[in-house]
Amino acid sequence: MKKIALVVFVCLFVLNCFGFSALSKHVVDYRIKAKLVPAEMAVIGEEVLTWLNDSEVPVSELQFHLYLNAFKNNRSTFMKEGGGSSRGSNLKSGEWGYIDVKKILIKDGIDLTLMMEFIHPDDNNSDDQTVMQVLLPEPVQPQETITLKIEFYSKLPKNLRRAGYYDDFFMVAQWFPKIGVFEDGEWNCHQYHSNSEFFADFGIFEVEMTVPKEYVLGATGVRKGETENSDGTKTYTHYQEDVHDFAWTACSDYVEFREQYTLNDPPVNTEMILLVHRTHLNLKERFLQSLKYGLEFYSQNYGAYPYETITLVDPPIKALGAGGMEYPTLFTTLGISFLPEGLRLPEMVTIHEFGHGYWYGIVANNEFEEAWLDEGINTYSEIKAMDKYYGSDRSMIDLGCLKISDALQNRIQMIASERLDPVVKKSWEFNSGGSYALNVYQKAAVTLLTLENYLGEDVMARVMKAFYERWKFAHPKTDDFVAVAEKVSGQDLAWFFDQFLHSPDKLDYAVGSLRSREIKEPEGLFQGQLKSPSDNKEEGREKTYKNEVVVVRKGELIFPQEILIVFENGEEVRERWDGKDRWTRFTYYKPVDLKSAQLDPEKKLLLDINHLNNSLTRKPNKLMPLKCALDMMLKFQKLLTVISME
Ligand SMILES: [Zn+2]
Repeated sequence: MKKIALVVFVCLFVLNCFGFSALSKHVVDYRIKAKLVPAEMAVIGEEVLTWLNDSEVPVSELQFHLYLNAFKNNRSTFMKEGGGSSRGSNLKSGEWGYIDVKKILIKDGIDLTLMMEFIHPDDNNSDDQTVMQVLLPEPVQPQETITLKIEFYSKLPKNLRRAGYYDDFFMVAQWFPKIGVFEDGEWNCHQYHSNSEFFADFGIFEVEMTVPKEYVLGATGVRKGETENSDGTKTYTHYQEDVHDFAWTACSDYVEFREQYTLNDPPVNTEMILLVHRTHLNLKERFLQSLKYGLEFYSQNYGAYPYETITLVDPPIKALGAGGMEYPTLFTTLGISFLPEGLRLPEMVTIHEFGHGYWYGIVANNEFEEAWLDEGINTYSEIKAMDKYYGSDRSMIDLGCLKISDALQNRIQMIASERLDPVVKKSWEFNSGGSYALNVYQKAAVTLLTLENYLGEDVMARVMKAFYERWKFAHPKTDDFVAVAEKVSGQDLAWFFDQFLHSPDKLDYAVGSLRSREIKEPEGLFQGQLKSPSDNKEEGREKTYKNEVVVVRKGELIFPQEILIVFENGEEVRERWDGKDRWTRFTYYKPVDLKSAQLDPEKKLLLDINHLNNSLTRKPNKLMPLKCALDMMLKFQKLLTVISME
């Protein structure tokens, strides 16, 4: 008996240790066999999925994402929302994409194929087939698992967005039946929308991919096996734990580079795998250097990069729809071979997409519902990294006399927003794709930069680190970020987040007017006596001026203000104003008149949409150079809107 007890104890101990060694709760376990058939632009797949009911209620139906059905026709929700019908109609018959679930069985053999039905939880669009529900013969009890065997056929679309093919380039993403997230007693399994990204549970992926042997393959995770088959194909096996998605790519035109990356503090040891398209080999060093910067910056500022590999994929220029996208341990960047060194788009996109590995990948919020937690926080992180490595005044563009920082280009885009939506909103409920992007990327990032200026760089750095540490592998929501920020800073920040995350309104303060008037000597009737200016003449008597500065709040939103007031003799006065009223006036009686007034003299309020009205000088202000610079930045912003990045 004692021996059995000891064995049980040892087993429990090992299991316990094993459980602790996982970084995340493994709710899903996917074992997939996939064969790429280039002639059909398709993947034939077999998936064995074990799903854990990690809730407290029995679950009697399962829901799956079938993302590729977004590209099945021009009536899918994705196509209708994105105006994709016009783009879609350009597709020829073999160019649409879809996923057919051929068979679905419970592992013990019960066939559920006839129990599958398409549902449309977000918009009742009966033409949309991106979510599938399967009724189970018996519910899955809490903390029990169910194992399913699913046969599927994924026809890739001609490269439209994120996934697809172009010539012999294949980006195999959102490609397998993927189970939704069961939380708070119900399924969270949204349709594929034009603006939305993704949400899934963590677990294990082991995927065998068979491709023609001349193709170079890249995929999520660590390569565990590689076998050559007699039919001219090769099978690669990749394995990864603690991720919530799996993507892969194959192309005969990739040139593969591998290099180990190590960092001492914190300890990081990971293999960088670069798949550079042979037409962009001149960008290889730029990709590599910016990836190293990303690994260093995110590891040092948030937490050590925890995976054994990171794969950078550089799609061909004709397939830019697949570029600028993130997956666990793999991302696609942007390769435009003729970009000069001073135009740092490849660097910015590389750092940005690598950075998603932390927010989308590890922190893993619900991107359908609160995209800013990924895109906004990641854009903020990207700006910090770009500024650190490429110079805070020229991190984005450094071309002779034209220098623009990443922060400034984001601010310029934020200003251009029509302010129709707040930052926090379900992705498909935004007024447009533009409004979605300007809010969840630019406005959210500028909000965090402004918060940093308000709290101080040290405090903000601690907020970000604490948020990552507390919520890695744990699906946080917006309130969780606010709670961390308040706890670390020791301040009530509800006023800040309520305004800047939950209101579409604008922040705009201005110096309304400056006035200096000489106080005249008494003149007129005083107690029956007439006084005239000549009565007051004294030798060397100083003049007195009444100086007035009026500051106005032009926007709906409120932020405490600092004002620097300068007099003609060089004297400076600093004032503070709570900013709550529509205007306030500062009055000074002095022997000199006013020279200028400047709101927010340290330029901390990046959310203030108009910095040109933040100062006023009594002598005419030469604004023309500023206006020219603004004009140039708006042109650059137009260039950015042409480039897709997610
Ligand atoms: Zn992004």
